[in-house]
Amino acid sequence: MERLQKIIAQAGVASRRKAEQLIIDGKVTVNGKVISELGAKANPNKDKIEVSGVPIDKEEPTYYLLYKPSSVISSVKDDKGRKVVTDYIESTERIFPVGRLDYDTSGLLLLTNDGHLANQLMHPKFHVEKVYVAKVKGIPSKEELKQLQRGVKLEDGVTAPAKVKTLTIDKKKQTAIIQMTIFEGRNRQVRRMFDYIGFPVLKLKREQYSFLNLHGLNPGDSRPLKPIEVKRLK
Ligand code: URA
Repeated sequence: MERLQKIIAQAGVASRRKAEQLIIDGKVTVNGKVISELGAKANPNKDKIEVSGVPIDKEEPTYYLLYKPSSVISSVKDDKGRKVVTDYIESTERIFPVGRLDYDTSGLLLLTNDGHLANQLMHPKFHVEKVYVAKVKGIPSKEELKQLQRGVKLEDGVTAPAKVKTLTIDKKKQTAIIQMTIFEGRNRQVRRMFDYIGFPVLKLKREQYSFLNLHGLNPGDSRPLKPIEVKRLK
C-alpha cells in the first residue's frame, strides 16, 4: 500500500503537490469511491485509481517545450479567464508546467505529465541551470553585479552564486540588458535579486533551461521534446 498522492505522481499525472490538491478537490476515486483525505493509501497494482474519471495508467508520458509569451499564467487554468500556458499546446494528455514563469516573464517553459521528472527538475539539489535576460532600469556598476554573482540576502535566504554578464547598455534611456544564470528556482528570484541592488526589472525572458534553448521558436510556439532530449534531462 502506498500513499495516493505518491501513486498519482509516479503515474505521471501531476507533481506530488498537485496530486495532493487533486485529492483535496475530490477529483480522485479509488474503486469508484471519492477519496479526499491526504493520508489515504491504495495498492497501485490492484486498486482502480481515477483522476477526473480517467484511469491513471492510461497516460502516455508527454514532454513539451513552450516559448511562453508574457501576459500568460503558468498554470493549467485561471479563475479570471486569463490565458494559461496549456492554451498553447494541443495535447490529449494532462500536461502541467515544470515550475513557473511569472505572468510578465516570457521564455522557455517545459510542460509534461511526468510528475517524477518534474519533481526531480524542480528539486533544489539538481541545480538545473536557467539563463535569463533582464532589461533593468538604471545601469548597475561592476561591483553591484558582483554582489549578484556572490549571492544576496533575500527574505528566504542568501542566493547561491550566479553568473552575471552585461549584454548592452543604453546610456540615453538609462537601461541595461543583463544576462543572469542561476541554479535555483525561487519565486520571482531574478526580479528580487535585481530589486535588492536597486535596479528594477522592466522585462524578463528565460532563454535557456538546462541544455534546452528557444532556437527557431517565436513567442507562443511549442514543440514536443525529442526522445534524446528527454533522456538527457533524466
Ligand atoms: N525569476 C523571476 O523573477 N521571474 C521569473 O519568472 C523567473 C525567475
